[in-house]
Amino acid sequence: MAELDRKGGSPAVPADWTYAPAPESKDIVKLRERYGLFVGGEWLEPTESYETISPATEEPLAMIGQATKADVELAVAAARAAFDDGWSSIPGSERAKYLFRIARILQERAREFAVLESMNGGKPIKESRDVDLPLAAAHFFYYAGWADKLEYAFPNRRPRPVGVAGQIIPWNFPLLMLAWKIAPALACGNTVVLKPAETTPLTALLFCDVLRQAELPAGVVNIVTGDGRTGAALVESEGVDKIAFTGSTDVGKGIQRQLAGTGKKLTLELGGKAANIVFDDCALDQAVEGIVNGIYFNQGHVCCAGSRLFAQESIYEPLVDKLKRRLETLRVGDPLDKNTDVGAINSSMQLEKIKELVESGRQEGAEIYQPPCRLPEKGYWFAPTVFTNVAQSYRIAQEEIFGPVLSVLTFRTPDEAIEKANNTPYGLSAGVWTEKGSRILWMAQRLRAGVVWANTYNRFDPTSPFGGYKESGFGREGGLHGLEPYLRFD
Ligand code: NDP
Repeated sequence: MAELDRKGGSPAVPADWTYAPAPESKDIVKLRERYGLFVGGEWLEPTESYETISPATEEPLAMIGQATKADVELAVAAARAAFDDGWSSIPGSERAKYLFRIARILQERAREFAVLESMNGGKPIKESRDVDLPLAAAHFFYYAGWADKLEYAFPNRRPRPVGVAGQIIPWNFPLLMLAWKIAPALACGNTVVLKPAETTPLTALLFCDVLRQAELPAGVVNIVTGDGRTGAALVESEGVDKIAFTGSTDVGKGIQRQLAGTGKKLTLELGGKAANIVFDDCALDQAVEGIVNGIYFNQGHVCCAGSRLFAQESIYEPLVDKLKRRLETLRVGDPLDKNTDVGAINSSMQLEKIKELVESGRQEGAEIYQPPCRLPEKGYWFAPTVFTNVAQSYRIAQEEIFGPVLSVLTFRTPDEAIEKANNTPYGLSAGVWTEKGSRILWMAQRLRAGVVWANTYNRFDPTSPFGGYKESGFGREGGLHGLEPYLRFD
């Protein structure tokens, strides 16, 4: 707490209202010096390694294996053997027991995972603690519930597992994306080879410990770390029956081209450029909170981030004023501090990409606002940013920035809002702020987005399907819909 001033005999009052540091202890995490590849329930020694760091401090955390094509083939073979050896044919109620066990262990070890997620990825501890971990456990609980009910989920369609699933995940929600992918795959009787992102492998590697604790049969889940070459080897492997990919649109398109005609199943969850649409009849202060949550949550490294704010012209000025004032209160800094709102940018590469797009916004004529805030000297940081005077054609209104950068545009009528919101190659998510229920439904029917939030933003639940239209990909994850990509029907 700040220093206290005492005037005469009057009660003590704080001299300023800044928060004292409240760092979460790292002691709960026991890092190894180096990690192997988790194949067939054992640690395989990699031939090459690379260093993973903390993006907040640039300090090295551990050496990570770079899986080669041959390593990936070993992992695929282990997954195939586990599939044939019984995982695909044991009763669903038995598979459910393993999933429930994994979910409970994740809950028990939540603090350890949350601290590690923030150390390796740079996200604020209050997000990894209150969002990533509870949701990851919830996905395992939810899909555990479906494992013995597939016949009821798809009546008269004889659901069968697909086989070996190759899963490639990004760095923005490392453990949560792992849960989104592994839980439904296992519930349906598939086995898995998963590749975490190069910059954030640590929680996936700690998860291998959970698999052993849960006594999951060897080979049912295999984790191969490495860069894009490892992902490409997984996509190319002939032993893989299905690929699930979350990441950039460019890589996703390449994978789709590569798999065309192979008969392999594919789901792609790619980028977004979501419209967060604010009407003049909404509860303005709540909308401001939703806008802030929409774009500054997880430093804007969110595929469904509300990166384009559409403000109805009649409230444009008060809305932007309130937003700027709210930005001044955001605390940027140490991800492990419990008071931090905005953490570190995930990598130097991503920071460069954000800077380049922000510079293009300035060059094209938009007006930039950043609240006064002191950024740490070490690590990768970017201040929360708002652009006003943005035209639809600007790159900052068209391209995914994947950083804490908001572009504000305006509209007059609902029709105009729809036309502008849909003017994007993407179609992952959108938000609507209005007090009229009929208007919410009218908008939701016309927005080309997989998810439309009403008077809220970035809400997730394992029971609700998530996925995109257009260049945001295809296939759904979550809910009943999330089972289908992991099943064949004959
Ligand atoms: P990528 O699409 O490169 O990464 C996603 C995953 O795919 C990672 O595990 C990556 O490995 C792997 N990968 C990379 N190349 C290949 C390949 N040829 N074949 C198979 N797998 C591959 O995204 P980036 O990390 O490069 O981020 C770039 C941009 O993508 C971001 O700025 C953002 O705009 C967008 N993005 C969108 C995400 C979303 O959730 N929709 C998530 C992440 C990024 P590795 O980590 O080793 O490169």
